[in-house]
Amino acid sequence: MKYNLTQLTSQKVNEVVVDSVLTFNKDDELSTNDTFCSAPVMVTGVIKRNGKNFSLELHYESKWTFLCGRCLGETEYVIEGEIMRSIVKERNDAEDDNVYVESAVIDLYDVIYNDIVLNLPTQVICDDDCKGLCPDCGINLNTDSCNCDDENIDPRLAKLKNLFTHTEEV
Ligand SMILES: [Zn+2]
Ligand SMILES: [Zn+2]
Repeated sequence: MKYNLTQLTSQKVNEVVVDSVLTFNKDDELSTNDTFCSAPVMVTGVIKRNGKNFSLELHYESKWTFLCGRCLGETEYVIEGEIMRSIVKERNDAEDDNVYVESAVIDLYDVIYNDIVLNLPTQVICDDDCKGLCPDCGINLNTDSCNCDDENIDPRLAKLKNLFTHTEEV
């Protein structure tokens, strides 16, 4: 996702329009077995010149597939972001938010990549009401049901049950 800034630096234009489609590979660091970018990332925006200063305004939208943290079912999740940065030629402070450009070409890949990393949730739930998997038999409780609950009798109740059995024996 490279953009040539020569037209901007030579002051022929005041802005360069950004309209790109970015694809993350499945073997990208961002993707894991449980999380991957499931569609190309749509990037729009503008690189502006204001006197001697350059700035970047981007909007991106990306569709991700997560495995639900409760039921492990695949669920889609959209990650969107707005990026507003200054573009600088010299890196002053490694901590600042500026986009550092060494040549006349700016590569927006890292800018988008790093922003997605910040916005990537650690866990996604398919639905607030997701019932998850049964901790005993592993069945998906959203689509199936099991009898595990019935068999796990509260220990206090079990004692009571024994008591009744004994009384009956007497
Ligand atoms: Zn779920
Ligand atoms: Zn069960």
